[in-house]
Amino acid sequence: MNRRDALMLTLAVLIGAGSPARASAQAGGKLPTVVVLATGGTIAGAAASDVQAGYTSGQVGVDQLLAAVPQAKKLAVLRGEQIANIGSQDMNDEVWLKLAIRINELVAMPDVDGVVVTHGTDTIEETAYFLNLVVKSSKPVVLTAAMRPSTALSADGPLNFYNAVAVAANKAAAGHGVLVVVNDWIHGASSLTKTSTTAVQTFLSPLSGLIGTVAYGVIEFYRGPVGKHTTTSIFTVDKGTALPRVDIIMAHENMDGAIIDAAVAAGAKGVVIAGVGNGNMTKPALDALAKHAKNGIVCVRSSRVATGQVGRNVEVDDDKLGLVASLGLNPQKARVLLRLALTKTRDTKEIQRYFDEY
Ligand code: ASP
Repeated sequence: MNRRDALMLTLAVLIGAGSPARASAQAGGKLPTVVVLATGGTIAGAAASDVQAGYTSGQVGVDQLLAAVPQAKKLAVLRGEQIANIGSQDMNDEVWLKLAIRINELVAMPDVDGVVVTHGTDTIEETAYFLNLVVKSSKPVVLTAAMRPSTALSADGPLNFYNAVAVAANKAAAGHGVLVVVNDWIHGASSLTKTSTTAVQTFLSPLSGLIGTVAYGVIEFYRGPVGKHTTTSIFTVDKGTALPRVDIIMAHENMDGAIIDAAVAAGAKGVVIAGVGNGNMTKPALDALAKHAKNGIVCVRSSRVATGQVGRNVEVDDDKLGLVASLGLNPQKARVLLRLALTKTRDTKEIQRYFDEY
């Protein structure tokens, strides 16, 4: 028996034994309906052999993805749609808007109980956080991914997909905002981050911890999500939404303001600094930032450090310089929130309030 067969057998045994997720899903004798929106990523990736590092993301279509995990059909009636088929390093506004609009259409349908989005791991935290702010429903929306392509020995995609369907099909997942299910863990969209370039256990929620766990479809929720989300979020998008340009700039030793000036010259309406330590940067960089802040460019201080809050007015006088502190958001999520915030206002006090609340 090869490894994949062994995994299938384990799944079959566990599915047969039943689980809280499955029990609640079948309580009314009818399986819930979950729509799977595929965007590509390594979960849909393929390599020439099962033991090689090199592979191409986004090779497998949604029908193949569903066919590869027949066990998931015992949890929910599944329908698949292909939104894109790209490595998530190529994620862009066009796909984001298409995805958000389609999810909002689906969750408004009475016969849809939940949505699963398959995605690459590189930018899943940004897409999840974006959707967390613009999806207008409390129905479960669950993103999942894989670190190993579908052709790999011990591919992690099938079980991640199975677990994501279990969460999306479970009524208890409602009202938690957009969730990310990878490697048995249920993360909130605002808290998770990718921490390893290659390890299967790459996603952590370092500041606030997990929302829950899911083991072979058996779900435990520990807490609710951090920050406003979905039905309590004021942010909306539609076909015509143009998200303003916001650039992330990493601080470093001997930094000057040239790259900040260049970002603004290129059209950035906002800048996020991935600062050193508690959102710090050199005096020349800070001077450049303050100059642009004075001219209406919204400048957010975040940190290049993997975890921790960036507080207001700690070593930098944000009040005096007109800057915004990212608080618990890392640079990539601060950029998502700032882009949406800029669709509403340029007022830095108001935008700081968004960072407090979301
Ligand atoms: N580059 C891939 C992607 O983000 C990596 C992955 O999915 O693990 O699409």
